Amino acid sequence: MNSEALFEESLKYLVGGVNSPVRAFRGMGRTPFFTERASGCRLYTCDGKELIDLVCSWGPALFGHNNGHIKKAVAEALEKGTSFGTPSEGELKMAKLVCEMIPCAEKVRMTNSGTEATMSAVRLARGYTGRDRIVKFSGCYHGHVDSLLVKAGSGALTFGNPDSAGVPEALAKLTSVLPFNDLKAVEDLFSRCGNEIACVILEPYPANTGLLIPDSGYLAELRKICTKYGALLIFDEVITGFRIGPGGAQARDGVIPDLCALGKIIGGGLPVGAFCGKRKIMDNIAPLGKVYQAGTLSGNPLAMAAGAAALEKIRSENPYESLERKSAQVVKAALEAAIKKGIPLQAPQAGSLFSFFFNENPIKNCDDAMNSSRELYSKFFKLCLDSGLYLAPSPFEICFMSCAHSDSDVDKVSEIISDAISKI
Ligand SMILES: *Cc1c(COP(=O)(O)O)cnc(C)c1O
Repeated sequence: MNSEALFEESLKYLVGGVNSPVRAFRGMGRTPFFTERASGCRLYTCDGKELIDLVCSWGPALFGHNNGHIKKAVAEALEKGTSFGTPSEGELKMAKLVCEMIPCAEKVRMTNSGTEATMSAVRLARGYTGRDRIVKFSGCYHGHVDSLLVKAGSGALTFGNPDSAGVPEALAKLTSVLPFNDLKAVEDLFSRCGNEIACVILEPYPANTGLLIPDSGYLAELRKICTKYGALLIFDEVITGFRIGPGGAQARDGVIPDLCALGKIIGGGLPVGAFCGKRKIMDNIAPLGKVYQAGTLSGNPLAMAAGAAALEKIRSENPYESLERKSAQVVKAALEAAIKKGIPLQAPQAGSLFSFFFNENPIKNCDDAMNSSRELYSKFFKLCLDSGLYLAPSPFEICFMSCAHSDSDVDKVSEIISDAISKI
């Protein structure tokens, strides 16, 4: 069956034909392609097409798809069994790697997804501080946790309304949503009710509204405010963790949170999440403490093998300079093409992450991002796809460079992107 037929059939059995909404390509005016296999930086579709992939499974494929080293580690683990339900050595190896690589990590708890990691980190923050209120930022995505599925209302200081049906308003009311990169909004809120706030959770480089870059000193100030009021600072580094540098944004910017959520890359392509942080906080989780958290398949041996192989590879190769250089090349080509064509484009970049906003003004927060042209992005997306380049099927997702993109792949990507911009 080709993608068209597979999608039609899937619509009968899977909600919207997919298992995660953005895969449905809604808003892009296309039906999604189905992938038959993936290797390196390429996806091979059920229609016999070969695509260069800048989505990289939404981040995990730092070393490209089906990397030989990671595949070998999984195959070796597979020989020994797929799940034990008891402690196993792979979990220890993984936890040690996380503690050695992530500055705030003194102890770790593995989960099966990033959503579980942020959910548990917030519960821990509430349990540890004995406070209920939490703060998040508009446009930051932390998985589909009830109390985190809340965006900003119009006023910067309005308390949250649920973003999704099914999230009780009573719960959403405990979540304050503030604009990103606006310290005054944070200071005002804390001066009103800082002693009720359990935690501030954020993506240090928000990467789910396109890419937002924190103003210089912003993260450090958040750290100070949290410390002053006894609220925990939680970095959601599910994307930035091993994408922006080996120690995440916290190492890159030298701002150490109390807790950190990890996911995506940490699984080397298998379903994994983790949260970690300071020992005295983490020790409040069961079985040592009163904050309950558990998982039947948490620390799964196949996932641990894949994740540890990826982290070891990161440590031995430190690929970030090369990832940054390749990403910068693509961004530069896009910006030059946009100037030539006379269309407004913003293309922020950090490490292996970058995104395209068709917008005249620099993007500092979610509102700025939302003011970008969706129509231009959708045209851009289709032109690239038709030329063999897969970008995220949403103007508010980002691009991920991988180690498997060779210099000639990067030249090709730059060429496709420049050409697409010239034809928009
Ligand atoms: C993807 C993502 C999550 C959720 O992770 P899942 O594994 O999809 O549950 C949480 N936070 C951020 C920043 C993410 O990008």
